[in-house]
Amino acid sequence: METHAPFTLGPDHVAFRDMVRGLARSRFMDSMLERSQSEKFPMSEFGELAEAGLLGLCINEENGGQGADELILGIAVEELAYADPSMAYLVFGANGANGLLAAQGSQELKETWLARCIAGEVVTCLALTEPGAGSDAANLSTRAERVEGGWLLTGEKTSITQAVHADIAIVVAQTAPGTGTKGIGSFVVRMDDEGVQAHPIKDPGFKPLGRGSIVMDKVFVPDSHVLGEIGKGFSLVMREFDLTRTLIALMNIGTAQRAIDMAIEYSKQRETFGRPIASNQGVSFVIAEHSTFTSAVRVLGYHALGLRIAGQPHTAEAAMLKWWGPQVAFNAIKDCIVLHGQVGWSDELPLQAMLRDVSGCMIGDGTPQIQKLVIGRELIGNVVMGR
Ligand SMILES: Cc1cc2nc3c(=O)[nH]c(=O)nc-3n(C[C@H](O)[C@H](O)[C@H](O)COP(=O)(O)OP(=O)(O)OC[C@H]3O[C@@H](n4cnc5c(N)ncnc54)[C@H](O)[C@@H]3O)c2cc1C
Repeated sequence: METHAPFTLGPDHVAFRDMVRGLARSRFMDSMLERSQSEKFPMSEFGELAEAGLLGLCINEENGGQGADELILGIAVEELAYADPSMAYLVFGANGANGLLAAQGSQELKETWLARCIAGEVVTCLALTEPGAGSDAANLSTRAERVEGGWLLTGEKTSITQAVHADIAIVVAQTAPGTGTKGIGSFVVRMDDEGVQAHPIKDPGFKPLGRGSIVMDKVFVPDSHVLGEIGKGFSLVMREFDLTRTLIALMNIGTAQRAIDMAIEYSKQRETFGRPIASNQGVSFVIAEHSTFTSAVRVLGYHALGLRIAGQPHTAEAAMLKWWGPQVAFNAIKDCIVLHGQVGWSDELPLQAMLRDVSGCMIGDGTPQIQKLVIGRELIGNVVMGR
């Protein structure tokens, strides 16, 4: 039996990490700063990620994926985020949407879209949030009305990553107002439908991916483009949060790790008062402390993924990671900017762009307050949510 020391990566995962690290640092690291200032969607980089097999990692081989475990996905986003958070987000978003299509899509839906999604030819987005429903995500106004052969979708989604570049959107909508989550379904909407309009939102980070709103006016969605069962659309998306919240934390500490590595290098070569700034404990302790925090997030992230692979509950761990990981990463990058002095603050280095990307991740997929409510509910019970 193949064994490896507990709480360490086995040889397959190490080999995969080294492969992604090589790709990320050779192809995306030097160009990250320029890309971070541009609103052009990185279609050719998306193709490179597809070519490396990174867009369908956990999808089974019959459906065109790699059949890997979720730890592989965690390692991929962490390594990519070291080089460029937007590259990590591309892989994070594509695996989420493609995974839903593979697991819940009809044969026709898979034949039409899935292979092209995994090949990096089709851009997807996930549309849950609405102007009046963010944290209170089940309180949806977007309506799906039954018609012959399908559904008519009307309403507005907002804050949707890649909305303005997407070819298809997974839209979560209410089929039976007043029935709560029991009436919610998930629908695959073509973004080129004449009833769909996407509007960009001006953002400080993740500029190449963009965020936007999607307005739908009686958009016809055939039955073949419904994901899973009506009534299960909300839990379908919610279940994925345990994975995506964990991935966001790993992604963010991947980015923080680069800031820490940059600070280590800089502090060895920058001299003040006749000696390297690293020789001051006021500098080295900052690096020591942030390395401690990022290492702890990484271990908790791998643990949450381990629980997921083992089929064990990990909702509380994922919520812990989601509130803490982005905060740990943000604080680390912020302090590494200060360790770089005036050059750290400038746009000549990527540190500010990294900070802006990580700050968006504090909110996307649920705010810290909502995560603490989730942890409280898991540990104490529904009384935490006021019911
Ligand atoms: C970078 C980024 C990318 C995103 N990408 C997507 C995407 O692709 N698809 C998508 O559907 N959505 C996306 N979102 C939206 C995101 O999921 C929501 O913004 C988030 O869930 C919060 O909702 P809200 O903005 O409406 O804030 P609100 O729900 O209005 O909350 C406002 C504030 O009140 C606090 N609050 C609310 N309720 C409580 C409570 N009961 N107790 C304590 N505090 C509370 C919140 O924590 C927050 O600080 C993205 C957001 C960002 C920033």
